[in-house]
Amino acid sequence: MHIARRKTRQISVGNVKIGGDAPVSVQSMCSTDTRDVVATIAQIHQLEAAGCELIRVAVPNDEAAQVLPQIKAAMTVPLIADIHFDHRLALKAAQVVDCVRINPGNIGAWWKVEEVIKAVNERSIPLRVGVNGGSLERHLLEKYGWPSPEALAESALNAVHALEDVGFTNLKVSLKASDVHHAIDAYWLFAHQSDSPLHIGITEAGTAMTGAVKSSIGLGYLLSQGIGDTLRVSLAADPVDEVKVGFEILKSLELRHRGINVIACPTCGRVEIDVVRMANELEKKLGHIKTPLNVSVLGCVVNGIGEGKEADIGIAGGEGKGILFKKGKLVRKVPMEELMETLIQEVELLAKEKEAESSGEAIVPLPSNEWESLMPQSESRSTLGKEIPVLPHR
Ligand code: SF4
Repeated sequence: MHIARRKTRQISVGNVKIGGDAPVSVQSMCSTDTRDVVATIAQIHQLEAAGCELIRVAVPNDEAAQVLPQIKAAMTVPLIADIHFDHRLALKAAQVVDCVRINPGNIGAWWKVEEVIKAVNERSIPLRVGVNGGSLERHLLEKYGWPSPEALAESALNAVHALEDVGFTNLKVSLKASDVHHAIDAYWLFAHQSDSPLHIGITEAGTAMTGAVKSSIGLGYLLSQGIGDTLRVSLAADPVDEVKVGFEILKSLELRHRGINVIACPTCGRVEIDVVRMANELEKKLGHIKTPLNVSVLGCVVNGIGEGKEADIGIAGGEGKGILFKKGKLVRKVPMEELMETLIQEVELLAKEKEAESSGEAIVPLPSNEWESLMPQSESRSTLGKEIPVLPHR
């Protein structure tokens, strides 16, 4: 299925392009104390190994701001500084990082925001304007009575307008709510009134499993509507899991084709191999492969090989042996004890062959689409107050 993506203004965070025709990027945030440089760099390296494309660190105090140069020097992907309350930390971080995230709702007087704009402009780095349900402006809370999706969208649009009015458009926007419906509605409303690129996420989504489910529903809905240019899956878990879930969401929607996609049958009374163990082991052992490959593990040959037709390569259990197949065609029978090792070797080989054929990840192209007629027509300003769209699912 082809997803018509919303056409947004493109910005660059370091060497990662966000918006426009760039693929949806996956980001995460360190859970370490930023001042603990050794632990923070170690976690950054784990995130980089998992394919994380943008990494954010909290900068809650001056000591954290002081260590940013050390952290930045040790990493290869762009670094984003997360700042709340104290604009002076943003000014310091802007000297080092690739993007500064501020929340206009808690940064204080406008002159402080202007100082931050001046600092990021000096290094031509973008700003992320992050609006959060927990820190909305008082007048919006009074107007709407609660941090509603409309209030979130209006807060973000007000901030974007104010920045646009002083000529600053090098920005992306996030509107975070922990309720899936509210987050969807807020992003939907904003997306129809501005062409600013969007960082999407469900904040405080929960533990590894509940957070992954909530994020998959929320982000999956938005992405399937064409909304979202970069994402973070917020989990109360190892941030590496956030990256894995993020890519799985994009792969499921065919917005990214990256790495191994393990297709495993749910097993039933016909199962002849340990599908669960093998599928988990494959994901772990082949996590380093970036070439897109579908690898299937099927419990038996009854439906197995036919069901695995879409897979580039796979195994199925059969009469005490394993059957190795490619594109639904039998290649050879393999003794059970050699099955995993054989499959891993074959996948590595296939990945190398594919890498030689094409360099890098396949990018999903952006043909012109229905979003064009929906986007604001003005080149310079978003459209708050002109036509407020009606949420389609209300
Ligand atoms: S592939 Fe075989 S074992 Fe797996 S669910 Fe289908 S019939 Fe059952």
